[in-house]
Formats: sequence, C-alpha cells, structure tokens
Amino acid sequence: MAEEKTKAALLKEKLMNHPKTIKKLTAEEIAAADAFCEDYKAFLNASPVEREAVRYTVGLAEKAGFKPYAPDAEYQPGDRVYYTNRGKAIALAVIGKQGVKNGARLAIAHIDSPRIDLKPNPLYEDSGLALFKTHYYGGLKKYQWTAIPLTLHGTVVKLDGTSVDIVWGDGEDESCFCVSDLLPHLAQEQVTKPMAKAFTGEDLNVLIGSRPFAEGTDQDNDLVKLNVMSILNEKYGITEGDFLSAELCLVPSFKSKDVGFDRSMIGGYGHDDKVCAYPAAAAALALETPENTCITYLTDKEEIGSDGNTGMQSDFLRYFIYDLARQDGVEGYHALSKSTCLSADVNAAFDPTYASAFEAKNSCYLGGGVVISKYTGHGGKYDTSDASAEYMGQIRALLENNGVEWQIGELGRVDLGGGGTIAKYVANMNVDVVDLGVPVLSMHAPFEIVSKTDVYMAYRAFFEFFKA
Ligand code: MN
Ligand code: MN
Repeated sequence: MAEEKTKAALLKEKLMNHPKTIKKLTAEEIAAADAFCEDYKAFLNASPVEREAVRYTVGLAEKAGFKPYAPDAEYQPGDRVYYTNRGKAIALAVIGKQGVKNGARLAIAHIDSPRIDLKPNPLYEDSGLALFKTHYYGGLKKYQWTAIPLTLHGTVVKLDGTSVDIVWGDGEDESCFCVSDLLPHLAQEQVTKPMAKAFTGEDLNVLIGSRPFAEGTDQDNDLVKLNVMSILNEKYGITEGDFLSAELCLVPSFKSKDVGFDRSMIGGYGHDDKVCAYPAAAAALALETPENTCITYLTDKEEIGSDGNTGMQSDFLRYFIYDLARQDGVEGYHALSKSTCLSADVNAAFDPTYASAFEAKNSCYLGGGVVISKYTGHGGKYDTSDASAEYMGQIRALLENNGVEWQIGELGRVDLGGGGTIAKYVANMNVDVVDLGVPVLSMHAPFEIVSKTDVYMAYRAFFEFFKA
C-alpha cells in the first residue's frame, strides 16, 4: 500500500519550485535529440566563419523552398524567403497569415565566433621561419590557442576586384598551422606571471613555413617568406599586397566530436553561437504557414560588440521589417513595437571544477534543457535589457505548456565579470526580447562542450515560439 503523503509534503508539491539539475527525458526525446545533432554537427563543421555559415544556411533554405527576398515582390502567407546581408548575415522569413501587422516573431543568433584574424600586413620571416602576425577576434584566453592545429579560412579581394575564398588545413592530409609555445623547461619566468601577461596578443604569431625558396641564393633574403608567397600565388593567384584587402581567420582545424562514454555531449569549435543559430534556422525551415511572420536572423560581429553593418546594431533587420510592414500597409515602427524576440545565445553552464565562479541556485546546467537568461550584463545589471516580468511570463508559459525542458540561468556569480548578447540592441528597437539558448562548458575555448538534448530543446523552443 502506498504511504500517505504528509500535509507538508503535499503543500510543498503545490507551492515550491522543484529544480532538478538533470531532467530525465524519454527514449524518444533522446533519440530525436541525437538525430537532430547529427545535422547540427554537419552545420558546425561546415561553418567556422560567418560567410561559411551563411552559405550553408542558403543551401538548407533553398532545399526547403526558400527564395531570395525581393523588396518589390508581393508576398503571400506561407511564402518563404531568405535575405543575406553582405554574405555575412542572413534572415530567413516565413510570411504569416497576419504578416507583420501584429509584429514579427524573431529568433536572432550570431554566427561569428572567437578566433584569430590576420593583420593587414601579416606575413614576415624571422630566424628562418615564416609567420603571420595576427589580431585576435573576440574574447579569448590566449594560451588556449597555442600548440593546437589551426586552419585558415577566409576571403581575399584582389586589385582587379575578383575575390578568392581560401580554406587551408581542414582535410586529413592537408597541412595546418599553429602558434608555438615555450617549453616547460624554460618557462620558469612565464609560469609565475599572471595569465594575462604570460601570453599576450602580440605573441599569437602563427607558424606557416620553414623551407626557403629553392632557387634562392646567399645574396637573397626572406627566402622562406618568398617560398610561402609563391605557394599562395600558385594556388590562389594572390600577391602579398592582397592581404590588405582580405578577411582571413585562423580557427581550430579539428572537427566536432561526441564527448563522453554515453556520447551525450558534443565538443567542437564555435558552439557559441552556432549551437543556437542552427536550431533557430531549423525551426524556420520546418515552419508551415504561421499566424505572424517569423524571422530567424543570423547576425555577425556579436563577439566584438555587434558593431558594423553586418552586426546587430546595423539597420539591416529593422529595414527588412519596415519593408514587410509597408507590404502589409502598416508603419514599420508599429510592426516593431508589436514584435517579440528570442535572443538566441549561449550561457555558461555550471562547472563543478570552477564552482566558485557560479551561484548554484541561479546557474544553468548541462543537460538541464534550454536556458532562459532574464538579463546578462555585469555588476549592478549594467549593459543589459533585462526582460520584463510580463514577457518572461509569456515565454515561461509557452515552454511549460509545450513540454520544452528549460531552466533559468544567470551568467556566473555577481560582480565576478559578465557579458552581453544582442538582446539589448533588439530591445532598443522597441521589441520585447529575452535571451534563450544552450548552456555551454568551456565557452570561447577552441573546444566548447554542449549537451545534445539541450540543443534539441533549443530547436523545440524556437519552433513552439514561431508556431504560437
Ligand atoms: Mn554568443
Ligand atoms: Mn561569445
């Protein structure tokens, strides 16, 4: 016979929150998550830099019946369009029955990730080695980028106006590049320095060659550099001056891998924020005709403050919505004021090894579901839009009512540091917005970790949000 519950136990059940670190999902949910993540890994592997993420997304969109957006075309409910911004950001829109008269439903993620960019004058030779000078992009712990294989991705524009895409170092048999580090035997001074000084930005020099040009003589200098330039010229038709009009990035050369005996996690480069970008895009691709026009926007430059015409502070998305509003016979600013947004970005998962950096009661946990961050920013809630109680209530109910596993998450302990997302720029457009995304371990490291079921729950959250 079942034991009768005490009065206190019954009241507890009714009134108290029951936070569980790990939610137990059904076998079907786990299988669906595993399958979804195979497609996610393909996206992640193909998209180290934003241009590649855009190209891959265009491919997925065209397969799903999306057509390039034409501002003068007449769109009907159910029409599916994509709109790219300078090849580095992309909007996917499914036109709703009401268009944007009652606002658009927005899911916005970023497709740039921390990495190492080449300087405009990168190439030099020193002590018989050819190297690249670099300037890191986004927040890195520099030492993590030493002594690992790196691959070069990017675009070079030549003087004649033609451009060439470069991908070097991805293939199993291809050569790669790396940043050297000092051997421990001679590192007694280095290891006693504070981490910020042990390895500085100007130390991120990338090793790219060591063999002199074969036909050089003792009178010639910089023969190793010349040899590298001659290889690049042969393969891509570029000269050293072409580095001045290029966007070339070094990213880890390894592919994503399942992590753990149970294969429950994925390790890889650039989860922040492709792990939200892919589910947000997939939700738009899976959508039939929604009530309100739904837009997934994958933006650039978040890691360096969302500045620039491909970043979230640009007017690109605003004007896109204005164009859609004009079609629907409403003012763009009215459409914006009724719009709602999920700012799709990652949060830091609680790490038991670094527990003191977190406040356990308000942290998100790997495997605990999609994470809502009411606010980001830093000490005293500076630099954040802080979602309203009303909007939090709406999103919380949406997730609860549709069986989407979710949790709340604050980024680390108060006054320890902080960080931001695109949410505040969206809020500035007079849109209701909250951060919703995937918890990540080792954020901004070359090999970041996420949970497969969290990735899938992010997809389910965006889909239910669009459908509602
Ligand atoms: Mn991010
Ligand atoms: Mn980031």
